[in-house]
Amino acid sequence: MARTIGFIGLGNMGGPMAANLVKTGHRVRGFDLVPASLDLAREAGVTVVGSALEAAQGAEVVITMLPAGRHVIEVWTQIAEAVPEGTLLIDSSTVDVESARKAHALAKARSCLSVDAPVSGGTGGAKAGTLTFMAGGEEAAFAGAEPLLKAMGKNVFHCGQAGAGQAAKICNNMILGISMIGVCEAFALGEKLGLSHEALYDVASVSSGQCWSLTSYCPVPGPVPASPANNGYKPGFAAALMLKDLRLAQAAALAAGASTPLGAEAAQIYGLFDGLGHGGEDFSAIIRMLRGTEGQ
Ligand code: NAD
Repeated sequence: MARTIGFIGLGNMGGPMAANLVKTGHRVRGFDLVPASLDLAREAGVTVVGSALEAAQGAEVVITMLPAGRHVIEVWTQIAEAVPEGTLLIDSSTVDVESARKAHALAKARSCLSVDAPVSGGTGGAKAGTLTFMAGGEEAAFAGAEPLLKAMGKNVFHCGQAGAGQAAKICNNMILGISMIGVCEAFALGEKLGLSHEALYDVASVSSGQCWSLTSYCPVPGPVPASPANNGYKPGFAAALMLKDLRLAQAAALAAGASTPLGAEAAQIYGLFDGLGHGGEDFSAIIRMLRGTEGQ
């Protein structure tokens, strides 16, 4: 069923996601602060409007894809005031769990339905329409969101109530950050021991060291031809975004009283890498810092 959707935040992720909604027959009214993003969206068939409020007016569903929690709260505060009761608000940005819950509360106070639905799959997945969505919110809100999420992604999970999508996202990415550092340390140690990359990969990829960071995203060139290591560590998934997610996980751990010592260490290590000026590189490039060749 074609729906009228307001889409706010048409950046690297939001732009192609909005384009996929247009491709599946929906009417999309889009807004971003950056004129170049608006031009690309227009080319993709989005009706470009002059403000977030205008994008939301007349829309049955409003989707936000913004940098961080404060942007989401700012935009949701404006639009929740302006849209009719029953409008469905979906936030797909990666934000802290507390902001996600605050956004749900803003929606509820205006009798709107709401879903937090962050994604994994990166810009490639956004373009291809193969993102994974992790959603939190009430059943009725999720039921309304699901067909739209499926138009932009391949796997859609309802993880629980308000904030559960963000919780799933940061827990998953904490595993990813920690496991990538583990795989990098193993290759760096193997190199010092005279072990070839191929030999370590062949053994570990079918042994108990097997994990996604190794077999889908190998941080050394060769064993997994599509991994960013074969392409000068061009992202992929930028180290700065990994750092953002690890810090969100730490904020959540602190607030919830959870002990996550390796998550904390991973956040420190990625913070150092980012501080050395490598935030724009793929997150697997951390191997260069761990083996002491980060400038090369
Ligand atoms: P981006 O910076 O390319 O896009 C964000 C857009 O929001 C920008 O175009 C910006 O102009 C716009 N914006 C900011 N404030 C606004 C406002 N008040 N009104 C309208 N537009 C506004 O970032 P992105 O890579 O598209 O990421 C978006 C979100 O998705 C982030 O939370 C990020 O952590 C998450 N994410 C990104 C990736 C990735 O690989 N890029 C992967 C998974 C999740």
